Amino acid sequence: MTGNGGENGGGYGEATRAVRLPTGGGPRGERPMRPPVHRSTTYAFEASQDYADVLDGVRGGYSYARIDNPTTDAFATALAAMEGAGTGREVHGQAFASGMAAISTVLLALTSAGSHVVASRALYGNTYSLLDGMLRRFGVETDFVDIGDTDQVRAAMRPETALVFTETLSNPAMLVSDIPALADAAHDAGALLVVDSTFASPAVCRPLEHGADIVLHSATKYIGGHSDATGGAVAGFGEPMARVRAARVDLGPCLAPDEAYLLHRGLETLPLRVARQCATAAEFAAAVAAHPAVASVDHPSLPGHPGHGLARALFDEGRYGAVVTVAPHGGRKEGMAFADALGLADVAASLGGTHTLAGHVASTSHRQMSDAELEGAGIAASAVRFSIGLEEPRDLVRDALAALDRCGGA
Ligand SMILES: *Cc1c(COP(=O)(O)O)cnc(C)c1O
Repeated sequence: MTGNGGENGGGYGEATRAVRLPTGGGPRGERPMRPPVHRSTTYAFEASQDYADVLDGVRGGYSYARIDNPTTDAFATALAAMEGAGTGREVHGQAFASGMAAISTVLLALTSAGSHVVASRALYGNTYSLLDGMLRRFGVETDFVDIGDTDQVRAAMRPETALVFTETLSNPAMLVSDIPALADAAHDAGALLVVDSTFASPAVCRPLEHGADIVLHSATKYIGGHSDATGGAVAGFGEPMARVRAARVDLGPCLAPDEAYLLHRGLETLPLRVARQCATAAEFAAAVAAHPAVASVDHPSLPGHPGHGLARALFDEGRYGAVVTVAPHGGRKEGMAFADALGLADVAASLGGTHTLAGHVASTSHRQMSDAELEGAGIAASAVRFSIGLEEPRDLVRDALAALDRCGGA
């Protein structure tokens, strides 16, 4: 079932809306504070006609959990309310078993053999391989472009271009996509703009407010926020979302109700958590950038970062995301030594949770790239990506500065 964001504007501020997100109704029309977890995979009907009417969408209701589940719907509806709050339009949501389930379903729903896609060159690795591998086998061709160069995007558009695909914030450079300019470029060519907003979350930026047609998330990251639930979510308008829903039902990547419950709970505290994480990230970026062993720091809060101006225009005030990439002087060896010298930040995959995580980019998320390819992509061989968590800012700063003192390659 779909979510309607319109009912949730109400003039309330962000944190108020977050704790009053739709939960789905109670069994007798009550309004539960938290969505009940419905584990039943199937539903019994009084009459065959009722069952047929639910399947046909003639009346609301549930028949089978892969198609719709009340807990999963509550999460999808809540996410749609959050992403769509400022659009003044009806926004629909769909929930998925993972971020990649959401991305693969959206791509399969919106393309056909012969379709063309224009995508950022700096995409999440599995999105890149899906477009460059599997979708190419099925006759969908993708041009990977420098998404920050709108002329390049416009030049790549073709009559058969179905969509432009970008990420609000790129990994690990934290470049900011010019969503309004990309929406214009897509729409002028009759294509849709699809934005993976995982690194931002709706507490930093809501791409649908800036012209995107579809926004999607790995809810495993900031939305869940506690590194204990895997999921994905998509929100957008009208007909394209109907196609996404139909593809989800056919493909079967449905979110489990227990995970949906956790992800819905994550949304309640998302603005608080992310505001704090963003503030800590900005403090951390500025402090670490001043250390003599550091060659570069990527975070849009820094006035010299290429995404600073766009972030100020498109993001909520004072929030620049909470991933910070720090490159000590030197190469791979110095980067790994820096990551290993950290005492507080854990070396681990993923982002967006309560714990600060660090990863040496060249040997982990981007390990398939040579030093030359990394350099071409503007990624230092020594770069360590931090996902800033909820610890005390000064503890994180002290930990990073001590690690740099010890082995930052100076
Ligand atoms: C993690 C991530 C994904 C994939 O999400 P999963 O939940 O791991 O499937 C997609 N895009 C971005 C930007 C991510 O960080």
